[in-house]
Amino acid sequence: MVTDIEIAQQANMQPITAIAGELGVKEEELEPYGRYKAKLNQSLFDRLQDAPNGKLVLVTAINPTPAGEGKTTTSVGLGEAMAKIGKKAVVTLREPSLGPVFGIKGGAAGGGWAQVVPMEDINLHFTGDMHAITAANNLLCAMLDNHIHQGNALQIDTRRILISRCMDMNDRALRSVVVGLGGKINGFVREDGFCITVASEVMAIFCLAKDIHDLKERLGRILVAYSIAGEPVYAKDLHAEGAMAALLKDAINPNLVQTLENTPAIMHGGPFANIAHGCNSVRATRIALKLADYCITEAGFGSDLGAEKFMDIKCRLAGLAPSAIVLVATDRALKYNGGVPKADTAKPNMEALKKGIVNLGAHIENMRKYGVPVVVAINRFDTDPAEELQFIEQYCKEQGADFALSEVFAKGGEGGTALAQKVVAACEKDSNFHCLYPDSSTIEEKIERIATEIYGAADVAYSKKAKKALKDIAVLGGNKLPVCIAKTQYSLSDDASLLGRPQGFTLNIRNLKLSNGAGFVVAYAGDIMIMPGLPKVPSAEKIDVTDDGRIMGLF
Ligand code: ADP
Ligand code: MG
Repeated sequence: MVTDIEIAQQANMQPITAIAGELGVKEEELEPYGRYKAKLNQSLFDRLQDAPNGKLVLVTAINPTPAGEGKTTTSVGLGEAMAKIGKKAVVTLREPSLGPVFGIKGGAAGGGWAQVVPMEDINLHFTGDMHAITAANNLLCAMLDNHIHQGNALQIDTRRILISRCMDMNDRALRSVVVGLGGKINGFVREDGFCITVASEVMAIFCLAKDIHDLKERLGRILVAYSIAGEPVYAKDLHAEGAMAALLKDAINPNLVQTLENTPAIMHGGPFANIAHGCNSVRATRIALKLADYCITEAGFGSDLGAEKFMDIKCRLAGLAPSAIVLVATDRALKYNGGVPKADTAKPNMEALKKGIVNLGAHIENMRKYGVPVVVAINRFDTDPAEELQFIEQYCKEQGADFALSEVFAKGGEGGTALAQKVVAACEKDSNFHCLYPDSSTIEEKIERIATEIYGAADVAYSKKAKKALKDIAVLGGNKLPVCIAKTQYSLSDDASLLGRPQGFTLNIRNLKLSNGAGFVVAYAGDIMIMPGLPKVPSAEKIDVTDDGRIMGLF
């Protein structure tokens, strides 16, 4: 079988100037990074400020198996398919984090004949956005430790520092570290830790900021620590936001690339979908809506995490409204939800499918609560038995849900035209988008709403620590913000082993954190790893580069 990288390297790429030209982007609005990547600069935003918006299509999924269920692949394939049926569409995606590329996860640029290229660049350094975000975050950390070293005028309590250094690498050895060792000239000794760059608040801010000004304001609002007296200390108190924004001034311009079929794709920003909101930047989505009739965008994990946050956080804060939701389902993930171990999901098992299909039902019902038409995309794997696919289609009919079989992995855009037609039709239907809860609800009310309406929980329980955090956050004015629940992606509940459609469980909130710059409150319903490790045999061992500079073994 040909690998994703082999397909990608045979791509017949067009110069990025040609892709931009097709979209009506002028030469001076484009900042090429080599021949096949470019940034879209502020003058494009300014020129199109009052242009009409296209339709926003969100791609989300049922609860996944640990391999991922094909949201990116479906998004990219749908972008290609839209061109096939004569529609002007731009795909907007998250840009990959470098760390996981060397671990186990597949590429983040789609798969098979539905990929974004140049995939090696996109998966490795791309246009340097991740490095810029890393630098901005670490500058803030350096300024904080320096402030303490230089006399600590703000009386920062070194036991209550809330930010950490970051790096775009899976490196478990850095999860907990001690800094400042080696004597007086090296500052004060304190415990610190690293998160992966995409888990930093700077990344979440980067993705929600509408322009440099807004970016700077949000960076300034980051809650960095408490003082000895218990007062909040913000990044602006350290006068860090200007320099941080300076480091990000080019990075905040969205990156334009292309699919294997030369249709446009914008990849920009990529926060976690548990401790952050899990979708590409607001700037990317906004400009795509101006440039095309359809913007197809992906949110992370299943709809319980990514789509909920896309709508209740991103759409709320940015004033966006989706016209249709594509819900990706796979036969194998439904069997996994029916209790089949991951390794056996390719084998026929109608009984497991019948058991696990309720997971699809839950996601369809949940998405309808937002008032937006839903289309189920059945992402076909070549091992899927025909009668199982028919069973899924029949189930969709019974639920009154639009659906289409998607074969974009095997066939590219040609394999997605049926889906594209359904999506276009869905966008013409009446849509009455609304968020799940109003801003004015309390944090507890917001959590309860998501827990009961989306997860299917009976109730919510708070630890002592969480109750204390709720009070602290209310004092800081965080009550009016949306909530971002961090939990496992494998279950609708907070217990990864409860598959299918669990009911009657209690959602346990262990702690809460104010992401004040991003503008949401993170509620932890589980231990979330913010610095991943590498597996026993990391994929890095298979990655290589030839003497003439060709990358090998990358997926
Ligand atoms: P997600 O965005 O939901 O995490 P991806 O689109 O990245 O999922 O797909 C996860 C992995 O599965 C990728 O390696 C991709 O190439 C592969 N994949 C997706 N769809 C198919 C399919 N229909 N057949 C075979 N492999 C697929
Ligand atoms: Mg994806």
